[in-house]
Amino acid sequence: MADPKGFLNTARREWPRRSVGERVKDWDEVYVPGALLPIVEQQADRCMDCGIPFCHDACPLGNLIPDWNELVSRADWRAAADRLHATNNFPEFTGRLCPAPCESGCVLAINQPAVTIKNVEAAIADRSWQDGLNAPRPPDRHSGRTVAVVGSGPAGLAAAQQLTRAGHTVVVYERDDRAGGLMRYGIPAFKMEKHHLERRLAQMRDEGTVFRTSVTVGRDIGADELRGRYDAVVLAVGATAWRELDLPGRELDGIHQAMEYLPFANHVCEGDIDTSPLSAAGKHVVIVGGGDTGADCLGTAVREGAASVTQLDIYERPGDLRDELAEPWPTYPKIYRLSPAHEEADELRVSPAADADARLFAASTLRFTGDAAGRVRALHVTEVDAERRPRPGTARTLPADLVLLALGFSGPERTRGGLVDQLGLDVEDRGTLARDADFTTNVPGVFATGDAARGQSLIVWAIAEGRATAAAVDRWLTGETRLAAPIGPYDRPMTA
Ligand SMILES: Cc1cc2nc3c(=O)[nH]c(=O)nc-3n(C[C@H](O)[C@H](O)[C@H](O)COP(=O)(O)OP(=O)(O)OC[C@H]3O[C@@H](n4cnc5c(N)ncnc54)[C@H](O)[C@@H]3O)c2cc1C
Ligand code: SF4
Repeated sequence: MADPKGFLNTARREWPRRSVGERVKDWDEVYVPGALLPIVEQQADRCMDCGIPFCHDACPLGNLIPDWNELVSRADWRAAADRLHATNNFPEFTGRLCPAPCESGCVLAINQPAVTIKNVEAAIADRSWQDGLNAPRPPDRHSGRTVAVVGSGPAGLAAAQQLTRAGHTVVVYERDDRAGGLMRYGIPAFKMEKHHLERRLAQMRDEGTVFRTSVTVGRDIGADELRGRYDAVVLAVGATAWRELDLPGRELDGIHQAMEYLPFANHVCEGDIDTSPLSAAGKHVVIVGGGDTGADCLGTAVREGAASVTQLDIYERPGDLRDELAEPWPTYPKIYRLSPAHEEADELRVSPAADADARLFAASTLRFTGDAAGRVRALHVTEVDAERRPRPGTARTLPADLVLLALGFSGPERTRGGLVDQLGLDVEDRGTLARDADFTTNVPGVFATGDAARGQSLIVWAIAEGRATAAAVDRWLTGETRLAAPIGPYDRPMTA
């Protein structure tokens, strides 16, 4: 600690965001470029380096947070980058996209604003690229063993990078035309610009990982062929089977799933198409679902120039402060959070139906109605109590030309005769791939990782799963492993 009283002398300051008026006119990240590095050393110095760093435990990757806070406060960026990459393959992703449960566990957060851990992580990641510290790390020698990774989201990428670095020959199969999983075609560029992804993929290619995109395993290449060709197979296929809303009027035109809508906006940003065929421009948009996916639809619809946008959340509005009895420190509490997209909606007053930030809480959809041409024109909604019973007299009608369903996901997609059937995989009741503590499915040599097995989750968990699965695969192939495994039976937080 450069200043042992940093936590007393310095107030929390976050990475400044661009003005709402400026940022909704483009798809660039919401942050002011270059504004983080000048403040971050002092912010890192707010870390108390407390005896028991609960933030370690709160981070699924076991990131060595007080260590790198200390190094950043002393401007030792090289050592900070080493410590950060010891536990996290892709800190520029989590530094932008993670909801930062570590900050809820920060000891300072007991009675003061937490250390800006996520911002410090992003700064170290960006500085390490800027300073040329992320040179490819190809293995010294090859093991002669081969691994197929199916799916190139954060779980597949983390597993592939770890296994490549351990000396195995790794091929990543991805059905999309570009690698990245939900970080590519789900998450909008204003949350994370895609050049961060490109840079990591280039590093991985230079280390020896091979990518085969536009290949659907189970259709373009059979699961048996894959098993015959490779010594081990890692299924990192995500959990993208979306939940439906079977209500009267669901068949009307103009009602789409969020993951039908968001990829088009991302393809526009990639320069693949000029405009989205589902663009919200000039439309009254209603988003059903109060989570992150819904917020991404909100920010996207605002940028596309929607006439109005309202987001429906079935839950009551959470409180502004942690409920100390139900969710005491250091847990990650359910509190009212204002994402950048909500901040934009709030300032621009994009919803005529909601008081602020475009969200209607405790709101349950009743039905959709449309015009003679079969297009949706209105969504009928009612307020509900905690048991989801309608509150009498609260039913209302919202104008809706575009309805986006963001109700979550149940597990990996299943097609008859597809990958899961071909391999004869066991599936849990909740729809995820069954596996044991070693990340192995019921088929020997076939492993399951990330959202596909954990269920819909977070990028930080996907990276943790990928790292741990790589350790399990390495052990299965060679009888031992030196790879780090933040979760699971080989829980070893350090090195590689
Ligand atoms: C819109 C949206 C926004 C989100 N925002 C955030 C956020 O801000 N922060 C956060 O932490 N988390 C966020 N999440 C969650 C996060 O993106 C996921 O938890 C994470 O991407 C899961 O990683 P994964 O590697 O397990 O799967 P995915 O990222 O889903 O990747 C799976 C990949 O497998 C491919 N695939 C599937 N089947 C096959 C096949 N048969 N053959 C070849 N390839 C196949 C898919 O095309 C996909 O690319 C968001 C999710 C969504 C939907
Ligand atoms: S990955 Fe997430 S939880 Fe871990 S240190 Fe970074 S922001 Fe915190």
